[in-house]
Amino acid sequence: LGTPAAVAFQHHDIAALLPRPTPESDKYRRGVVGIAAGSGRYPGAAVLAVSAALHGGAGAVRYAGSAARDVVRARPETLVTEGGPKDAGRVQAWVVGPGLADGPLAEQTLDEVLAADVPVLVDADGLRLLARRGTAPARALLTPHAGEAVALLAGVGTGVTRDQVEAARLPFARLLARRYGCAVLLKGSTTVIASPDPSVPVRINPTGTSWLATAGSGDVLSGLAGSLLAAGLDPLDAGTVAAYLHGLAGRGDAPVTATEVAARLPEVWRAVA
Ligand code: AMP
Ligand code: MG
Repeated sequence: LGTPAAVAFQHHDIAALLPRPTPESDKYRRGVVGIAAGSGRYPGAAVLAVSAALHGGAGAVRYAGSAARDVVRARPETLVTEGGPKDAGRVQAWVVGPGLADGPLAEQTLDEVLAADVPVLVDADGLRLLARRGTAPARALLTPHAGEAVALLAGVGTGVTRDQVEAARLPFARLLARRYGCAVLLKGSTTVIASPDPSVPVRINPTGTSWLATAGSGDVLSGLAGSLLAAGLDPLDAGTVAAYLHGLAGRGDAPVTATEVAARLPEVWRAVA
């Protein structure tokens, strides 16, 4: 029969992947996630990514960026680094990009994160920087929405429109994963997660809700998935679990804010575990 092109992940698949602390765990062994996000213009993206990372299974969250004051005020559990990602202590996975803006400091932040040689989630402004380079490390997880996917594809010489991506989300997620040589989570009404290995079926997230179409929602997904990476999940699994929990946290037949989505993560985690 061959390998199916795509699979819908179910509750029990997700439950089996959730990281669980053991008696031997300490905060470092549970994983430390580094968040390189936010800017003077977009401090909130940093707060949202950090908030979600705190609920994502890692033992500690480090923040490196220019929104440290806002981050610590909102989430005092955060370990703040003076300076850039290269000055941060031990980090098992990085999230780079939400609210990072553009310019030399953003470029330097991306350089320092990539030099760390640990799994890295690249989102938002980080994806636009990456698109200009046209390359990503194999240990990366890219989390574009359709517009960012268009920029990434342009970066490797494929001219497509947003509508074309929306009309063929699965093949474009696959194409991106192949071209960049890493896992790709293509966000949208139905989020799909593709491996760079074409023999691995694309995963389709069944929990999405259009209430998630709200500002800051993607920043929450990034922090959550980054935390799961730091806890030891591989990029494909981290993206799969994050999309599933994020979708559940957005449900509720009423408008929801990104802050509330992050705050609901423990409740949905409990429901899935
Ligand atoms: P971003 O565009 O980075 O803010 O991310 C938006 C988040 O909301 C992603 O997780 C999307 O998958 C999700 N989302 C946006 N629009 C929809 C929709 N119409 N239905 C379901 N999820 C959506
Ligand atoms: Mg976004």
